[in-house]
Amino acid sequence: MLMCREATGLMSLKLEKALSLREKIALKVHLSICPACRHCVRQFDLLHKIGNRHPASLRMPEREQDD
Ligand SMILES: [Zn+2]
Repeated sequence: MLMCREATGLMSLKLEKALSLREKIALKVHLSICPACRHCVRQFDLLHKIGNRHPASLRMPEREQDD
C-alpha cells in the first residue's frame, strides 16, 4: 500500500511525465481510500494550471489554524 508521501510524489511526477500503469493504479487506489490525498491532487492540478501562466503565484496561502 502506498504511503501519502509516495502518493504525493507520484502526483508531482505525473505533472512532468506519464506514469506507468502500475504507478497510476497505485495512485488511484490510494486516492480512493485517502481524502487528504484526494484534496492534495486537486491542489496539484490547480497549481500546475496556474503555474504554467504565473510561476510567481505558486506560493501556497497560509494554512488556517483550525483548532
Ligand atoms: Zn494519502
